[in-house]
Amino acid sequence: MKIAVYPGSFDPITNGHLDILKRASKIFDKIIILVAVNPNKHFNFSLKDRVELIKESVKGINNVEVDSFEGLTVDYAKKHNATHLIRGLRAVSDFEYEFQLASANEFVDSSIDMVFFMARGDKTFISSSAIMELARNGVDVKDLVPAPVYNLLRK
Ligand code: ADP
Repeated sequence: MKIAVYPGSFDPITNGHLDILKRASKIFDKIIILVAVNPNKHFNFSLKDRVELIKESVKGINNVEVDSFEGLTVDYAKKHNATHLIRGLRAVSDFEYEFQLASANEFVDSSIDMVFFMARGDKTFISSSAIMELARNGVDVKDLVPAPVYNLLRK
């Protein structure tokens, strides 16, 4: 069984994340979405909300689990028999960050490899922070986020 971990902040989950997830779910038998717990970082949504929104948004994809973890993702992956970490790339700026992350992960444990998916053309501008900025300024983000996120943002 091929297991991958898809780590991130998911603050909140967007259609960009979902697109990567759907594509990756065709390659791996099981994907664990791992929500970052970082007491030093400010998030728009609580950990509980971020996890709950993902759970509601991935109901249609059956080989996906959701979990949260404080610590190194590679440690979590190893403990859960995952062989790969999934990440997405939207721009060259993502590449720089992801390349460093991959190198750091490799330093910790080279048996866990990273797999990258290119953002779809219509999703390259979608990020959690862009969604929050647009929503805050009254732009309708219906086409950019899953329904549970949209409903919460409207409140
Ligand atoms: P982090 O804070 O760890 O970067 P994010 O939730 O912002 O967490 O992103 C998690 C992963 O999903 C990252 O690899 C990011 O590049 C990728 N990602 C986010 N939005 C998109 C998108 N629209 N298309 C492709 N990949 C994306």
